[in-house]
Amino acid sequence: MKNKKTPLRSIRKMCLDCQETTTDVKNCMHTDCVLWQFRMGKGRPRLKDIRKYCLWCMLEDKNEVKLCPVTECPLFPYRMSKNPARKGIGATKEVMSKLRGSRASKGLKKTTQSHS
Ligand code: SF4
Ligand code: SF4
Repeated sequence: MKNKKTPLRSIRKMCLDCQETTTDVKNCMHTDCVLWQFRMGKGRPRLKDIRKYCLWCMLEDKNEVKLCPVTECPLFPYRMSKNPARKGIGATKEVMSKLRGSRASKGLKKTTQSHS
């Protein structure tokens, strides 16, 4: 099976780079680190979490995160809160705006799904 890069795997790699051994990662005491709960390669991190980490790394300077020169950092592809693997997936802003316009003209309101 192909070992696909994902935000979770990238966090795990980041933690392994940060500490000496897998045991050190397991025993990491930095519970305030935004990646801590995902350090064992489990859970569902949000791209926002990675972004937060990058901002911490660059002393909260958004421009420095954008211009980060460390392209080999495991978190690099996600530093702007975007997942390059999902580029082009989902509706664009233009499509969504047309859809909203069309729904509004038909008098349809936004509904929530319910399971009975
Ligand atoms: S949780 Fe944070 S401090 Fe701990 S190993 Fe991962 S990156 Fe390093
Ligand atoms: S991608 Fe850049 S800003 Fe983000 S953690 Fe890595 S080195 Fe820091």
